[in-house]
Amino acid sequence: MKLAELTWPEVDALDRSTVVVIATGSIEQHGAHLPLATDSLLVTSVMEAVEARLSEKILLTPTVWLGASGHHLAFAGSLSASFEGYEDSLIQIVENFHAHGFHKFYIVNGHGGNTEPNGIVCRKLKSRHPEIVIGHSGYFAFLTQATYDAILTGSIKGIRHACEAETSLMMHLHPHLVRLEKRRDDGLEVDPPVPGMVFFFDECTEAGSFGDATHASANKGKVLFDEAVEGLTQALSSLSHGISLQGR
Ligand SMILES: [Zn+2]
Repeated sequence: MKLAELTWPEVDALDRSTVVVIATGSIEQHGAHLPLATDSLLVTSVMEAVEARLSEKILLTPTVWLGASGHHLAFAGSLSASFEGYEDSLIQIVENFHAHGFHKFYIVNGHGGNTEPNGIVCRKLKSRHPEIVIGHSGYFAFLTQATYDAILTGSIKGIRHACEAETSLMMHLHPHLVRLEKRRDDGLEVDPPVPGMVFFFDECTEAGSFGDATHASANKGKVLFDEAVEGLTQALSSLSHGISLQGR
């Protein structure tokens, strides 16, 4: 079910063990070839496909489009909440549902910069409301290395930012929004030599993208999309039925 399409009595009539799924995206630069809404569009497309398969089991909120994107603000049109504002907006969404008795939540993310805030949000909410079931993951966490290795032909075998993989997803899902002729190879193919470095995109990219999007294709995007939808469908179905956290 999609929250935005229901009436309040319809929501009020729902089984309170329905899994409330909150999708998080961004409005931020994605190089010269992808639109600012790329992360929001991709996570929305993935979650709408999952919702179509699990419509009786999950309640999908509209995608939260204002993300934690401070590391992109040097590029025009990029927008960011403060970390506190972003986290508070998610906490409010969960607590608004919780006030009506809902107690299962999952945050599905489309933007890497939201990953750590989403984790903090879950930990804050769990400590305030120990009885709730809550978790978070990027849709990209359901993409496997085997798939990356099998289909990606550029040197980055994974998903980064406006890269071969992300551009392929956009070519599959929103081809009219991809500026094919603007794709480029930034030559940024290795991670910094010290793990865990925090950087802004204008410090390390010229156009704002990573990898070589000229290798991207709609067919590769379909493979990645299908894998993410399948993985999330299984995960949310498990959450709906109830998972055991013991005995592992
Ligand atoms: Zn992105």
